[in-house]
Parts: sequence; structure tokens; C-alpha cells
Amino acid sequence: MLNYRKGLKDMPSYDVVDRPWTIKVNANECNMNMSPLVEERVMTRLSRVAFNRYPNEEYDDLRDQIAKNFGLARNNVLIGNGSSEIIEKLFHCFGGSKSHKIVYPQPSFSMYAIYAKAAEAEGVPVDLAEDYSLDLDTFIAAVRDAKASLAVICNPNNPTGNALSLDQVEYLAQSISCAFLLDEAYIEFYGQSAYRLLKKYPNLIVARTFSKAYGLASCRVGYMLADRKVIEMTDKSFMPYHMNVLSLVTADICYQMRQDFVPHIQIMVSERKRMYEELKKIKELTVYPSETNFILVHYDRANELNDMLEASGIGVRNFSNAPRLGNCLRISMGRREENDTWLKLIRDFVDGRR
Ligand SMILES: *Cc1c(COP(=O)(O)O)cnc(C)c1O
Repeated sequence: MLNYRKGLKDMPSYDVVDRPWTIKVNANECNMNMSPLVEERVMTRLSRVAFNRYPNEEYDDLRDQIAKNFGLARNNVLIGNGSSEIIEKLFHCFGGSKSHKIVYPQPSFSMYAIYAKAAEAEGVPVDLAEDYSLDLDTFIAAVRDAKASLAVICNPNNPTGNALSLDQVEYLAQSISCAFLLDEAYIEFYGQSAYRLLKKYPNLIVARTFSKAYGLASCRVGYMLADRKVIEMTDKSFMPYHMNVLSLVTADICYQMRQDFVPHIQIMVSERKRMYEELKKIKELTVYPSETNFILVHYDRANELNDMLEASGIGVRNFSNAPRLGNCLRISMGRREENDTWLKLIRDFVDGRR
């Protein structure tokens, strides 16, 4: 018997069905590879990499660039292997014992519960309302009652798609005195980032990613913005040189060229609006409003619908077994013709033609 650490055997895995889908709309990825112009600059930059050196300069260059964009300093920025690493480390830093409670809404990003467990902290899920809205005072009360060490909100929320307004976020920031992590993985599709609140609320932490709107999921790059003391403490939990140079320079170029990504983000948003209206016409479905690049749909026969889509080579995310998400499917926005394809299949299935 191998002597693994306590609790490891019962740790859930991140379950996602992955196959070579014809249309892959299950992971909220960007549906297009980088533009030729961006790719050309990335390749040129990659050809000049100092492979023999630890990537210190490249790490700081990206931090500086991000800091400048937000009117912050280098020591307000920490870069991670995807925002996943950032979130996992934050849970680690504010967890460590059952008396350290981490409060997050439910349903939300499924990894929060897993990271809380991994950090040996006590996860405290707060139920969203029937329509998946968050009652702010209920959340604040839960944070206070638990004497939480970390409160987490995903805004806009994955997988429900809805968002809090900036005023609502500020109301939370005002009322929460522990560390308060805002996971802004989908913020580019919504536009109302809370980063401006960072100076006023030093307990606020904003996590961002290059994986979604910037289409850089393969590189695993995310970052957090926070008070320099929070960065300094959190940084202790990362390995030295935890970012590799290939990802750093690629993200650096993409960030320099971020204006180049705006038209595509706008197309995704208009596709989401179009598909929302189209899906709403199918009266058997409950379609949830979204501020992201995906839409959550409830349908009584969601599992059968998912099977049919899978058999047709279309991968969506089936949440049927997750708490509070029974019979729900989450569909990421693909390219226009991809969206037309899955929409037609869903229509035909609901109408009994499949
Ligand atoms: C995708 C996602 C992330 C993390 O993405 P990374 O690829 O690790 O940067 C974090 N939070 C939410 C809610 C997400 O959906």
C-alpha cells in the first residue's frame, strides 16, 4: 500500500468529458486561434528566448505591463499558471485548518470546494436564490457568522452567467473585512471590473486570466491584483520561477496587442446575445441571462439532449449531477456557424425530430 496523504483518496477530480469534438463548446475557451498578426509577433519573440536562463526578467516585464494598465505598481501584481494556480494558492494561504473558513456561493466554479478541501480549510457554500441571483446580505452574514478568512465571488459567475453590478461588488467589499477574492475570469465579456476598488479596499483581490477572452488557454497564464502586502505574503507559497518563459513572453505579446482582441470579444458578446434570443424561443428550455461567453440552459431531458449532442460530435458541459444544477447544460459560444449547428440540433431534438 502506498502511503498517500490523508484525504487524497476522497478528493474529487475535475470531471470533464474530453474527446476530439467536432464542435467543442464545453470549456468556455476562445473559439479561434490567435490572429496571424499576433502569432507572427509571438513566434518572433519565441525565437529570441534565452532558454538557458530562469525567466526573471520576462516575469517582471509582464508584471510591469499589467500593473501599468491598471495604474498599479509591479508589487501589486502576481502572475500564475492560469488563474487556477492563483486561486489554489490563495486558498492555501488563507486555509490550513478547519477553523479557517472559506465562503463562496453555490452554484459557482466547482473548483472552489475542491481547493478548500485541498487547503484543509472548511468550505462554506452559500446557496444562490432560485434564479441564481446572490442575496448580498445573506452572503455577508455567512462570511461574518463563519468568521471567514477568505470570501470568494466569481463575477460574472460560472456556470450561471449572471453578474453583480459594480455597486453590488462595492457593497460586499465594504461589508467584508476578511480577504475578498473576486474571480474575474469572464470580466472582458462584461466590462465592469472592480479593479478600481483595490485602492479603497486593501483586502480585495482581483484574479484574471488569459485563458478565456484572450484565447491563451494552452499557455496557462493568469494574474492577481492586490495590495502589495497581500502579494508579498501570497508569493511565499509559489515555487521560485514558477512561470515558464514560453508562456510569459506569449502572454506579454498578447497583452501588448490586446486591442487586437477587442473585435473578437465583441463578436462573442453579440453571438451570446443572439443565441440567448434564439434559445429563448424554444419554450421547453429555461435560458439563464449571461454576461459571459457561455449560456446555461435548463431542460427536463438534459441528459438525453447531451447524449444526442455528444453522438453528433458536439461537446457541451453537462452539469446534471452538480448541486443545484440538475438538468442544466452550459454551452460556450463558438463561431457563428458552430452556434447555428448546435442550435439546430437542440431545436430538432426538442421538437422530436431527433
Ligand atoms: C476558467 C476559469 C478559471 C481559470 O482559468 P485558468 O485557465 O486557470 O486561468 C478561473 N475561474 C473561473 C470561474 C473559470 O471559469
